[in-house]
Amino acid sequence: FNNNMKLEIPSKSQNEAFARVVVASFASQLDPTIEELADVKTAVSEAVTNSIIHGYENTTGTIIIECKIEDAQLEIVVKDEGKGIDDINKAMEPLYTSKPELERSGMGFTVMESFMDELEVESEIGKGTRVKMVK
Ligand code: ATP
Ligand code: MG
Repeated sequence: FNNNMKLEIPSKSQNEAFARVVVASFASQLDPTIEELADVKTAVSEAVTNSIIHGYENTTGTIIIECKIEDAQLEIVVKDEGKGIDDINKAMEPLYTSKPELERSGMGFTVMESFMDELEVESEIGKGTRVKMVK
């Protein structure tokens, strides 16, 4: 069976946990293992946290999360209309962070990439960022 949902939330830190639980609940229709579900939750947390702290730099903006189940595959898109990423390849390198002063480890994209089967990042400076993940 196919299904889809769309969640729109303000970029507040307490919504990171909310988004993670909502996506996990949606994903549970696919009968995932505990481990698969944990992977999805971690990946969503990383993407939403990035929109909050990098995209909107802790100002309030809107984060949209779209999920789709198609052919027993889960697709998750996390979008913001924040500041955007100027060099995506560099941003996706393990250990690269633009905010070392905040003690970020620069591992968010690496985590998303290893915990999900597919990761695609699109971004435009001043327009925002779209992260698509498939599991
Ligand atoms: P960590 O995730 O380990 O706490 P991090 O967030 O810096 O550290 P990544 O999640 O891998 O590391 O992101 C790498 C870099 O990509 C960030 O430092 C930031 O410069 C940029 N970035 C990621 N997501 C966004 C976004 N939604 N909007 C703007 N810039 C982003
Ligand atoms: Mg991050």
